[in-house]
Amino acid sequence: MRLPAISDLKMLDISNSDQVIVIGGGNAALCAAMTAAESGSEVLMVESAPKPLRGGNTKYTRDIRYMHDEDVFTGGSYQFQEFFDDLLKVSGEVTDLQMAEFTIRNSTDIPQWMSDHGIIFKKEIQGTLSLKRTNVFFMGGGKALINSYYDRAEKLGIRTLYETTATKVLVSDGVFEGVILKTQKGEMKVRGKSIVVASGGFEANAEWLSTIWGEKTDGFQVRGSRFNTGLPLKSLINAGAQTAGDPRGGHMVAVDARGPKFDGGIVTRIDAIPWGIVVNIDGMRFYDEGEDLWPKRYAIWGKLIAEQKDQKAFAIVDSTMRRKYMPTAFEPIVSDTLEGLAAKAGFNAENFIRTIKQYNESAMDLVKAGIQPGSFEASANNIVPKKSHFYSPVQKPPFFLYPLRPGLTFTYMGVKVDRDAAVISQRGKMRNVFAAGEIMSGNILRSGYLAGFGLTIGTVFGRIAGKEASSI
Ligand SMILES: Cc1cc2nc3c(=O)[nH]c(=O)nc-3n(C[C@H](O)[C@H](O)[C@H](O)COP(=O)(O)OP(=O)(O)OC[C@H]3O[C@@H](n4cnc5c(N)ncnc54)[C@H](O)[C@@H]3O)c2cc1C
Repeated sequence: MRLPAISDLKMLDISNSDQVIVIGGGNAALCAAMTAAESGSEVLMVESAPKPLRGGNTKYTRDIRYMHDEDVFTGGSYQFQEFFDDLLKVSGEVTDLQMAEFTIRNSTDIPQWMSDHGIIFKKEIQGTLSLKRTNVFFMGGGKALINSYYDRAEKLGIRTLYETTATKVLVSDGVFEGVILKTQKGEMKVRGKSIVVASGGFEANAEWLSTIWGEKTDGFQVRGSRFNTGLPLKSLINAGAQTAGDPRGGHMVAVDARGPKFDGGIVTRIDAIPWGIVVNIDGMRFYDEGEDLWPKRYAIWGKLIAEQKDQKAFAIVDSTMRRKYMPTAFEPIVSDTLEGLAAKAGFNAENFIRTIKQYNESAMDLVKAGIQPGSFEASANNIVPKKSHFYSPVQKPPFFLYPLRPGLTFTYMGVKVDRDAAVISQRGKMRNVFAAGEIMSGNILRSGYLAGFGLTIGTVFGRIAGKEASSI
């Protein structure tokens, strides 16, 4: 293939068949790149974002989950069985039980490794998802994590090409032959001894999403990076890689409808749901808002909203619950009357009033029984859908409303890998092609999600991929 040379890329020794090429610039890519460099390889990292926007979805993260005995980072223990059970509980099922177990068991040294690579931890953020015992939080969030890792990567001699997109991974008979890189100036083929593809999912690719979700895609907001368009994933699939995970699988939460189409990050998520009710545009409830503790259920709400008319829903709380959840980026819509709220938000007021009336009357016996409204024990089982926990009547004005949209965090379907993070093709293991992070999360995740587990997957498999890619 004859391709125009690019001045930016001229300094690259494109025939350097000794280097490890890492595609992506987020957590999984950095874990792979640093490990490969520490294992003695020359490493070239390719990040499609410009430097100020580097770091993919990772720059929006805050915490990571890992298996541990009593330890200094969390002050409590979180053993294998509890972790595994939590994962099964939220997922309903996982793609591959052995891979899930493997990931959890290989997560024990994560905080130490992160700390060795420049990450500073801090106490759990107050009012968040009750993750104190199971997860560690990083100082400065994902942005600081990314900056620390890049700093370390630079010291390790890793070269990073920004604003450079990998458009095609060339694989012949299961062997990596090169990668086509594109900048604004042109394209070029670059060689290496191996490649680690850590380019995230395809959540920012509306065209691809619409082949799965149809017109519903128009109603989605992408919480993370606009650069995760899945080109390398598609290219690997075209080169014969097997896929893992359900194409409809993904992490999707409820976000504020007033947020941006891309890169809303953490602040557009609406955590008010368990504390009130959620109705659709017809003014009807459609799911149990208090099904379980919030960290175990928040990731199903995006998909629930995606199934509603126009992909719209509305979370409503009364003034007794207003301070129960994390502060929101946008002020809620406020009214002293429920009719006023429906009129301001533009949905069916008549049904809404009937819904609220039924809801408020459904658990009148609660108060008589001395159960604290809004507590975990407070349930209303005689309405459809029932409210399993956190029941509290919506009756004390003013009322507060958040317009909701499905907020896609990341897609799960990716390439199938083995425990060496090697990509598996229809003909067997590819010799020198590895994948880590969201691009292979479908090997484990099928439907639900456990807070802080995305980084666990990327850190476990990123380090393995880096080591294996270096050993070629
Ligand atoms: C708002 C938000 C909050 C989150 N919070 C948490 C949390 O607290 N804890 C947790 O565990 N998980 C969290 N997640 C999920 C988490 O971000 C991911 O699981 C994890 O960061 C994924 O890492 P990754 O390296 O696989 O992908 P990313 O970090 O998304 O990195 C992908 C990289 O690939 C680059 N890229 C894409 N295509 C190309 C291409 N063709 N060529 C070159 N480069 C390309 C992108 O620019 C990007 O740098 C959150 C996600 C979001 C959106």
